[in-house]
Amino acid sequence: MTDTLGFVGLGRMGALMSERLLGAGLTVHGCDVTPDAVKSFTGHGGIAAADAAAVAREAEVIFLSLPTPAIVGEVAATIAAAGGKVRTVVDLSTTGPTVAKVAAASLCDAGIHWFDCPVSGGLKGARDGTLACMVSGPSDEYEAVKGHLSHFGKQFYVGDGPGLAQVAKLANNLLAAAAMVVSSEAMVMGVKAGIAPQVLLDIFNASTGRNSATQDKFPRSVLPGTFDFGFHTGLSYKDVRLCIDEAEAMGVPMITGAVVRQILAATNAKFGPQSDFTSIVKITEEWAGVEVRS
Ligand code: NAD
Repeated sequence: MTDTLGFVGLGRMGALMSERLLGAGLTVHGCDVTPDAVKSFTGHGGIAAADAAAVAREAEVIFLSLPTPAIVGEVAATIAAAGGKVRTVVDLSTTGPTVAKVAAASLCDAGIHWFDCPVSGGLKGARDGTLACMVSGPSDEYEAVKGHLSHFGKQFYVGDGPGLAQVAKLANNLLAAAAMVVSSEAMVMGVKAGIAPQVLLDIFNASTGRNSATQDKFPRSVLPGTFDFGFHTGLSYKDVRLCIDEAEAMGVPMITGAVVRQILAATNAKFGPQSDFTSIVKITEEWAGVEVRS
């Protein structure tokens, strides 16, 4: 297993995940189009590279943590054309199965293996190394990346097919967004009726209505009014859009998912893609004329 790794995309997740590799004593060559992200990376001991091609020249295994399918596709094509030491690319982004299949094919032609490894668990999981890591890619090459992925969290190997892990991740993120949407409606109704928000949350969390929004997002970011859970509305909207589009292409109707998508579209339009996705609750709050705060 190589000790020389690469990291393309040193944003909120990429910064924390690359720091875990650096903290384990590994050598990491990284790049990002945002200079501040690179500065923080080198401050933690990373080696700055000019771009993804420069990373490919130095590192055998390269991790990607990028915002959109189009950018993942571009970066994969750059790496395929660059040659160098690179033998394996692992995409940690949530970008759906379609780009994974295209990227895997173009890299395969260049003799480079492709793994999808979308992750779940947010910034806290990335910082603590407790992410759920959904992995798909060639089973006979898995050993080459398994040890490195152990720095990020618990692995779930889904299968050989490119994009399979991305399907699992999109399905998970649809569930997480749906939980946020419907929990917002339930909380707003209870608070408007006169129940204290914390009492209502305690009831849900001791009862059958508990979910990731009531257990984590509401207590941490909605009740205190900080809206700092750490996941952008634009990213959640992207994930749910990808999920619904993929499901439709597969002939799987997603009626509830389509409603969740529209609530995210409204949140994105009103509060912007950089807002925290817990801002979803503010849409229902405004309609009902009540706020869910402690
Ligand atoms: P982010 O926007 O903070 O980070 C993305 C980084 O990619 C940015 O620093 C950006 O400058 C960089 N970038 C863009 N184009 C580039 C290019 N061509 N070359 C190099 N760098 C480039 O986003 P994030 O929150 O870190 O999320 C990254 C990915 O992880 C997304 O796909 C997201 O859906 C997924 N994800 C995020 C979370 C979360 O809680 N934030 C959780 C799980 C998964």
